[in-house]
Amino acid sequence: MPQLARRIGRAKPSAIMQVAEKAKRLKAEGRDIISFSIGVPNFLPGEHVYAAAREALDKDSGQYGSNRGADALLDAFIAHMAEIGLTGYTRANCATGVGAKHLIYNLAEALLDEGDGFAFPTPYWTSYLDVGEIVNADIQLLPCPPERDYKLTPAQLDAALAKKPRVFLFNNPSNPTGMVYTRDEIAALADVIVKYPETWIITDDIYNRMVFDGVGYHNFLHARPELRDRVIFLDSLSKTYGMPGWRLGLMAGPEEVAQAVTTLNSNHITNVPEIVGAAGVAALSGPQDVPQQKCAEFQAKRDQVMAVLAEIPGVVCPRPQGAFYVFPDVSVAFGKSHGGKPIANDIDLCSALLEAKGVACVPGSAFGEPRALRISYTCPTPQLAPGLQRIREFFAELA
Ligand code: PLP
Repeated sequence: MPQLARRIGRAKPSAIMQVAEKAKRLKAEGRDIISFSIGVPNFLPGEHVYAAAREALDKDSGQYGSNRGADALLDAFIAHMAEIGLTGYTRANCATGVGAKHLIYNLAEALLDEGDGFAFPTPYWTSYLDVGEIVNADIQLLPCPPERDYKLTPAQLDAALAKKPRVFLFNNPSNPTGMVYTRDEIAALADVIVKYPETWIITDDIYNRMVFDGVGYHNFLHARPELRDRVIFLDSLSKTYGMPGWRLGLMAGPEEVAQAVTTLNSNHITNVPEIVGAAGVAALSGPQDVPQQKCAEFQAKRDQVMAVLAEIPGVVCPRPQGAFYVFPDVSVAFGKSHGGKPIANDIDLCSALLEAKGVACVPGSAFGEPRALRISYTCPTPQLAPGLQRIREFFAELA
């Protein structure tokens, strides 16, 4: 057989999907499985979103659409950004993709040549690493351990940007940690960024509407509007609107970057399907009661998860204030065993937890932090308490 391209050897299949597949298999075998593994919202968008899609379907001629995204969609996105204080964008600053994941890939293609520096904090969302590997960037991981609430410090950012990476990618609220940076923390990081004009800044802020405790969402652009010529803001309909399978991501940034992504679209996908775009317009500009209600629900679920984790001796978990993940440090279990099975690391722990208790979580090493595991609490509410109870039992049974 002829050889595959080297870049494929550098990409790994998603560890999250591997856990999800194993959980699915056990479920198919009749096991009672509670999944805290993949980050899918367990709600549907409002009826107005379906109505807009149906209407578009009736009207749609089935022709190709705009490479950048339909005008109505770009306008809805611009208005949506203005609601969170990101103003002054035109259609020429924006582009769309088949999910934010696709936009991240397009941005890597657009901004990074082979060997260029690509810096991002760890724990990181899994695809950052793989996308960086595929484009053969020089990946610079910036460790943010649980002892520091998984947050990047200005000194750390300063040291990283002094190496002049081409791209710094920042994710707030964070997947996998759920941490949210305060206004002051963002301002302090923005003060560092202004000193390094050769670095593009991508803010993957797709959970910007899922922030708890009234802390609010803050972007470097709020603190330092002059960064507009190199900050690229990413958003997505997947999590906020319960539309992961519709595949719609949005970006805003300098015109040159939006144009580069549009050019890549013209060669990769041509366009985000316009029926999806019409649904996106309805989601972004229609009633916001579903996302608001879900955000309140997630905050209550966060409290429930944190209350149980606090009762497990040795498990340490910085308190998340956004998204729908918690990322406890579970290294207290390493070196022990469960039901005779040794637990040497996060992978053994997740595997034993799934096999013994039927609870699926994702090992922290998938996100670059092997001391932790990720609990995604989007499951139906009635499953949450029993799932947490099983985790508590599992830890109590460690020997
Ligand atoms: N960025 C982060 C931080 C995510 O958590 C995810 C999905 O889990 C994505 C991007 C990708 O989102 P999308 O479904 O829009 O591709």
